Amino acid sequence: MIYDATNWVHLDDDDNTEWYYDKVNKKVISTSNLNDEQREFMGMKKFARKCEVCEKLFNEGYCIDSGESYYCSQKCLNKEITDKEFLEMFDEGKGDSYWTSWEDEDEFSFWEDGSEIDE
Ligand SMILES: [Zn+2]
Repeated sequence: MIYDATNWVHLDDDDNTEWYYDKVNKKVISTSNLNDEQREFMGMKKFARKCEVCEKLFNEGYCIDSGESYYCSQKCLNKEITDKEFLEMFDEGKGDSYWTSWEDEDEFSFWEDGSEIDE
């Protein structure tokens, strides 16, 4: 497969390791671990939570029981919790289960490739 500068990023060489980011397949080509700085440099997106059902990463979705579980959509929520159950848990905003969005960088936990962000 041939890559050009728009979909293939050659990162700085670090000791004997070469770092590449394949934008087409969204994969880092290297056997070593990347650090947050390198991921930042590659322009990887950050996400707050991971869906319990489909494992999709998201910044807007359902938070259940103050973070016991998270769902990206109503469809995924309904795989484990019915709308009726959710409404009872939501309790008109008084409960610990609700739909929300995360915007604060400090709350982002995952890189777009699914790895966890180190703090
Ligand atoms: Zn989902």
